Amino acid sequence: MARVTIDSLRKEYDVGRVVAVDDLDLEIEDGEFVTVVGPSGCGKTTTLRMLAGLEKPTSGTIEIGGKDVTDVHAKNRDVAMVFQNYALYPHKTVYENMAFGLRMSTDMSEQEREERVVETAEMMDIDELLEDKPDELSGGQKQRVALGRAIVREPDVFLFDEPLSNLDAKLRTTMRAEIQRLQEELDITAVYVTHDQEEAMTMGDKIVILKDGKLQQVGAPNTVYNEPANRFVGGFIGSPSMNFVHVGVEEAGNQLVLHDDDGFRYPLSSEYSSQLPIERGDSVIVGIRPEHVFPADGDGIETTVKVVEPVGSDNYLYLDLGSDVDDFMARVPADFKPEPDERVTITFEDKNVRLFDEETGDSLL
Ligand code: ATP
Repeated sequence: MARVTIDSLRKEYDVGRVVAVDDLDLEIEDGEFVTVVGPSGCGKTTTLRMLAGLEKPTSGTIEIGGKDVTDVHAKNRDVAMVFQNYALYPHKTVYENMAFGLRMSTDMSEQEREERVVETAEMMDIDELLEDKPDELSGGQKQRVALGRAIVREPDVFLFDEPLSNLDAKLRTTMRAEIQRLQEELDITAVYVTHDQEEAMTMGDKIVILKDGKLQQVGAPNTVYNEPANRFVGGFIGSPSMNFVHVGVEEAGNQLVLHDDDGFRYPLSSEYSSQLPIERGDSVIVGIRPEHVFPADGDGIETTVKVVEPVGSDNYLYLDLGSDVDDFMARVPADFKPEPDERVTITFEDKNVRLFDEETGDSLL
């Protein structure tokens, strides 16, 4: 069992002036693929390095498979790390690169070792390259070797530090699928760090979102997408980004109406209004994803089209709603293609309207 338990994990640098990881709690189940995502400097790499034993926590504990490894040296933890820059030994062949870790960590016979390396190389489709040196390989091949070197050791936990970011977009997609296939086949427990929210969403069973060293939300990809815990998560997950509008709450009949002074006005149905933790006079932030904005047949919010950006199956509309919102985006089907300066009336559905606390940014739903 390779369950990982992270408890109040903290890392400070520069005598506490930098808090890279701020009391992180996290459970990773055996066989779970967890992606960790967040903007630059949010503490992703530091977290991973502490899991690997390459960085000593300031406080908190790490358990792997029920064993406290907080003070266990990196080489005595049963984890394998795959790095962005591959970290292959340049003077060793692919075979030697893969066999080296095995030689260090196990006392298996030379023959067993060879079998394991060849078998893994076949699985990774690099068996033709075993006698080559790293500088004879393409970026994608190097990353396959780096993956193979980790897999051959059969570690309890795989740690990936942005392993695909040096690859071009097409290769990245192929390798993503490859890693997902391996994870399903081998049922590995993995922590995968990336700054790419799309990669985090497509690869993770569970996605961990960090900001300024603090955990923002952890959950299944569709949960963090549909029910962001706060404004930051709403804005960070999903592309193009969620739209935000500062609004006041007023009451009309038994309906609540969200409005600002610049033409945003959205009446919530009375049924939905009664379920919400807001009342007349409140100020809140409304969040609406571009794909949930659609042209209205009748009543709605009047906007002016600024830019139309075709992206194949869809058009992105940059809309002017008034002074508070710079760019309000709508993602509409490609056959809806208004001209710049055209007036377009838009609307949404209640279920797609997210509400956030104006001060804390926390979700109110
Ligand atoms: P990126 O996506 O840019 O790699 P990250 O999310 O991996 O960022 P970390 O590298 O973990 O972030 O860094 C978290 C914070 O800790 C940053 O503010 C960084 O400047 C700081 N930090 C990291 N390593 C050190 C160090 N050795 N000494 C001082 N500060 C550090």
